[in-house]
Amino acid sequence: MRLSQFHLRTEKETPADAEIASHRLMLRAGMVRKLAAGLYTWSPLGLRVLRKVESIVREEMDRAGAIEMAMPSVQPRELWEESGRWRRFGPQLLKIRDRRDQDYCFTPTAEEAVTDFFRQEIASYKQLPVNFYQITSKFRDEIRPRFGVMRAREFIMKDAYSFHVSDEDLQREYRNMYDAYSRIFTRLGLRFRAVFADTGAIGGSASHEFHVLADSGEDALAFAQESGYAANVELAEAICNQTRPAATQALEKVETPTQKTCEDVAALLGIPLQRTVKSIALMGVDAGGGAQFVLAMVRGDHALNEIKVSKLPGLADHRLATEAEIREYLGAEPGFLGPYNARGKIRVLADRSVCAMADFVVGANENGFHLTGVNWGRDLPEPDETADIRNVVAGDPSPDGNGSLGIARGIEVGHVFALGRKYSEAMHCTVLDADGSAVHPAMGCYGIGVSRIVAAAIEQNHDEAGIAWPAPMAPWQAVVCVINPKGNAEVAAAADALYRELGEAGIEVALDDRGLRPGPMFADIELIGIPHRIVVSERGLAAGTFEYRARTATGPENLDRASLLARLR
Ligand code: ATP
Ligand code: MG
Ligand code: MG
Ligand code: MG
Repeated sequence: MRLSQFHLRTEKETPADAEIASHRLMLRAGMVRKLAAGLYTWSPLGLRVLRKVESIVREEMDRAGAIEMAMPSVQPRELWEESGRWRRFGPQLLKIRDRRDQDYCFTPTAEEAVTDFFRQEIASYKQLPVNFYQITSKFRDEIRPRFGVMRAREFIMKDAYSFHVSDEDLQREYRNMYDAYSRIFTRLGLRFRAVFADTGAIGGSASHEFHVLADSGEDALAFAQESGYAANVELAEAICNQTRPAATQALEKVETPTQKTCEDVAALLGIPLQRTVKSIALMGVDAGGGAQFVLAMVRGDHALNEIKVSKLPGLADHRLATEAEIREYLGAEPGFLGPYNARGKIRVLADRSVCAMADFVVGANENGFHLTGVNWGRDLPEPDETADIRNVVAGDPSPDGNGSLGIARGIEVGHVFALGRKYSEAMHCTVLDADGSAVHPAMGCYGIGVSRIVAAAIEQNHDEAGIAWPAPMAPWQAVVCVINPKGNAEVAAAADALYRELGEAGIEVALDDRGLRPGPMFADIELIGIPHRIVVSERGLAAGTFEYRARTATGPENLDRASLLARLR
């Protein structure tokens, strides 16, 4: 690519309304331009980077056995009524009406559309498993679009949907996607971490998020240094924060150790007891009075109407509680623990992330134990009880409660999700199994924020001069800069020859033949983050060398042709 024939438009000034580095640098480098709130045009330069990400995602999805397809962006209301999401998705769903007064939405994800495709196409278990994916524009009417393409309203997402006859096969594919995602983010050259994610409003299913680690990230992640266990701690914060004042007041009235019924606790908290308790989280406050840790979550199908509060030895040590200990602690009968704990071990979740799922939290600190109602009396969506998937998705390191807990900030760039039969049941989607009976396939869904990755990568890779792309995402690997091409034909010819030679050697190279003075030219090249810069000048030609500088090096060096080629390979 000859830059004189490309569209490159950079800016020196820092845009006033851009709060984080990636947003500022994407605007200054001219990668994107704002059309309206949360809507961005990708310039030719920005698109080159976006395509790099897209092609790595595509290659790894293909390699993992997923099959690419494309579904419409605009989807009819009827389909979304079938799943119940027309209403449930809330105000993020952009609804539109056509000239015939028919309602549509602009797709934020495509579970409905893919399930509809599936029920038209696939009849037998013999055609399973299958994993369909697409890389297309999605729209979400975010309440606060910000940080440029990081949280846009229209953005590019890779979304994949898998179908299985058995939970075991879903588990296999979930793991397969988890591994594919790990390869994708490794290939992109990003520092990332997969974390256990609470399924919150969707409930009942297992999920992992992939986060690019960056201080500007919107999510807080907790991870155990030694075991590698990690979880997103943000999810329950809002709910906990809202219920905490009432709970704190009520807790003052709870004596420990004590015995309370659900009715007692509801009365203490001043909230109506609307439904039976299905879940409990045990929460410890560390002895130093610092961060809180949820120690375990118990989720039972049985109504629980009595909670015995007594001291669980070692609770404050953040160790893994066994099923028997929890049962003893709760004074519950064997069999109390529901299907989520069939493995006999209870997950240790960091911080309050499980509270959102629990009806009830038992907390402990140096002063004794607390009872806190969490979900009661609040207008939360009913958890989805159809997907009993937590059992079948293995693979997290199981935390042993030893060692230190770290907190990092992350940007969510991917999300794998075991959906279970939520959509296939709601949308009457079946296949014939080996016995000839109609069964609902289990589903998984797997998203990657392709356009968000571009911004996330910049958050991790920049300095005062601009972007410093990880090589796989750079718009070009190398640029040949010509000093004064118009004034010196020999220099221009040498640069042109080098540019062609590098291209023929398979190096993705640009020729900066725009005729800028060295200062502004180098500033541009550093701003847009090209990993390798080669300068062809009169002085270098006379000495038989090229001036080479890696984007992240402290200074340039002079190399002869052979050493230069070796450096670029
Ligand atoms: P977030 O928590 O950031 O709002 P999400 O959990 O709502 O994201 P998912 O439904 O999991 O998003 O969608 C899959 C991926 O799409 C996310 O992991 C993220 O990388 C990307 N994504 C979601 N919303 C946006 C957005 N508004 N702008 C850019 N990318 C997004
Ligand atoms: Mg969101
Ligand atoms: Mg999220
Ligand atoms: Mg998500």
